[in-house]
Amino acid sequence: MLDDVAAAEPVLPRLLVTQTTVRTQHTYPIMYEHDVVVVGAGGAGLRAAIAADEAGADVAIVSKLHPVRSHTGAAEGGINAALRDADSWEDHAYDTMKGSDYLGDAPAIETLCQNSPYEVIQLEHWGMAFSREDDGRVSQRPFGGLSFPRTTYAGAETGHHLLHTMYEQVVKRGIEVYDEWHVLDLAVTDEERPEDRHCHGVVGYDVASGEVSGFKARDGVILATGGPGQAFDHTTNAVSCTGDGQAMAYRAGVPLEDMEFIQFHPTTLPSTGVLISEGVRGEGGILYNKDGERFMFEHGYANNDGELASRDVVSRAELTEVNEGRGIEDEYVHLDMRHLGEERITDRLENILHLAEDFEGADGLEEPMPVKPGQHYAMGGLETDENGETCVGGLYAAGECACASVHGANRLGGNALPELIVFGKRAGYHAAGKEMEPAEIETGQRGEFERATVDSPVELGDPGSFGDAVADGGAVAAGGSADADSVIDTTVEQARQRIDELLNSDGIHHSEVRADVQETMTAKVNVFREEDGLKEALREIRQAREEYENVAVSDPSQTFNTDLLQTIETRNLLDLAEAITVGALARDEFRGAHWRAEHQERKDDEWLKHTLLSWNDGSPELWYRPVILEGEEKSYEPKTRSY
Ligand SMILES: Cc1cc2nc3c(=O)[nH]c(=O)nc-3n(C[C@H](O)[C@H](O)[C@H](O)COP(=O)(O)OP(=O)(O)OC[C@H]3O[C@@H](n4cnc5c(N)ncnc54)[C@H](O)[C@@H]3O)c2cc1C
Repeated sequence: MLDDVAAAEPVLPRLLVTQTTVRTQHTYPIMYEHDVVVVGAGGAGLRAAIAADEAGADVAIVSKLHPVRSHTGAAEGGINAALRDADSWEDHAYDTMKGSDYLGDAPAIETLCQNSPYEVIQLEHWGMAFSREDDGRVSQRPFGGLSFPRTTYAGAETGHHLLHTMYEQVVKRGIEVYDEWHVLDLAVTDEERPEDRHCHGVVGYDVASGEVSGFKARDGVILATGGPGQAFDHTTNAVSCTGDGQAMAYRAGVPLEDMEFIQFHPTTLPSTGVLISEGVRGEGGILYNKDGERFMFEHGYANNDGELASRDVVSRAELTEVNEGRGIEDEYVHLDMRHLGEERITDRLENILHLAEDFEGADGLEEPMPVKPGQHYAMGGLETDENGETCVGGLYAAGECACASVHGANRLGGNALPELIVFGKRAGYHAAGKEMEPAEIETGQRGEFERATVDSPVELGDPGSFGDAVADGGAVAAGGSADADSVIDTTVEQARQRIDELLNSDGIHHSEVRADVQETMTAKVNVFREEDGLKEALREIRQAREEYENVAVSDPSQTFNTDLLQTIETRNLLDLAEAITVGALARDEFRGAHWRAEHQERKDDEWLKHTLLSWNDGSPELWYRPVILEGEEKSYEPKTRSY
């Protein structure tokens, strides 16, 4: 738990406010210290913390939200796991590889699919309230792109139950939770090569008091900070999904992998982006255009699976209907579940009735619901191996912020939650210095993932024509390879200075910059992408980065200063929006969720490789490494993908 110094009563900062100046007196010499520090308390963070605790580590969770307010709680439809005798992890792996459009790495996919049943059973043993069949077995429903109905669920509130079940375990085990502590930066040494750097901890900001303190991690820091959905203005993601961990680690030297692959979910409510679960289509919901045509079949988008084709396919189909004049109000299509009947709907999809009624005024029992595609998920993230390790020593990542390469170019619905619990657990064990024993993995454990060597760097056209990338410092501490305490102290001091600067300057409000970037991303880096649009987007993002140089915080408060925190989050969104767009511009092929107007075919000869983007002092640099299609028992041959 806390060391002696940290155990002392924290002295709250004093706030001196004059008309134009705000000064904080930092009088608390606190550094919290644990073996393993997990940043984030969603599904991945909680599972990582439980595993590290099981492995005997003194573990703490630091989270800007209370754990059960984490975005995992919004997950509706379910968790994929091959539980039935008629199903197999091999089929799950095949579906996942096909869904990824052959950009997932086979070893990582096989690890996911082998271990997911074990982890779902573990959740059940911890008391998770799964929906059940009359014979008592955990229910499973069909989901898009699956060859077997293997999505386990708890009504349409699966994530809520998942979070509560795991939080109970965290409380039971006495794991320390620093909630409403916003992590501002990573305490990383500053050697030239990222592979030589080490992460000794993080810097946190206590939302309730304004305290800025270091958290030392003796054995490892695990980032589980979720995705960057707020880079877009029409998204299913909460306002908290600002990709903080991705951006911090990227600036500290960890490459971002496959960022161009963004999932647009086909059924979001048009006015808000609130998700209508794929569970509705899994239970038999039907999509119609304004002429009442069941267009997935009638217009030949997916002659076999129709509404249950994978998400990229259905999203493109809907937008094509709208673009060709068969949308409703030129914007959306209809999702109809009335024929399922009131009993089945209220039993399995009750939450959907509330969402459609509350946010769109539509009564799903009496009328179809309006839906359109919206940003939903980031397939890419921080490059990790199967143990969550990044290239920076002592730094791990798991969950949506990471990219262990299981989703490739398109994630199958129901595959994110198993990723959290399978790879969260592995990261927790590994950070705590314990190898997972085969007995803990009932369905067998994969060999170690080899980080393949990268190709030569690829130039991204003429950066000048897109505007300069602004290099205004990163997360790398100025402490050289000094000892852990001085690296953390230095990073804490930098963070305090940055906060003072933000609170004491005049300039543009972050919300203007953020809104511009969100609008740009939704307009130009969306389901359908064109070269000119992507170039314009990159110019606009870089312009926004320049504007951000003059950002200022208008609220001088020292407590609950959301203006300050959102200003800091906006910086993260800018870096990630740029990463997504750079990757999208460079990849001149059509694969999975990445559709390019000028390049209408998947180019396996050229593009069976992962995009890696390095921060490179603020001028992002692209690298590539080959996709691994060799699995444990089979090799996955890229095939034409049809549903
Ligand atoms: C509406 C919706 C429904 C979904 N439904 C499904 C589904 O049915 N099945 C499925 O498989 N997938 C689903 N997904 C995807 C899946 O839910 C997410 O990918 C997953 O929950 C992300 O979990 P996570 O633990 O990585 O991050 P999150 O749950 O987003 O948690 C991130 C954590 O990091 C913390 N954090 C972030 N930044 C900081 C910071 N700077 N300092 C401190 N803490 C920080 C937050 O407080 C939070 O605790 C859905 C997604 C959405 C948006």
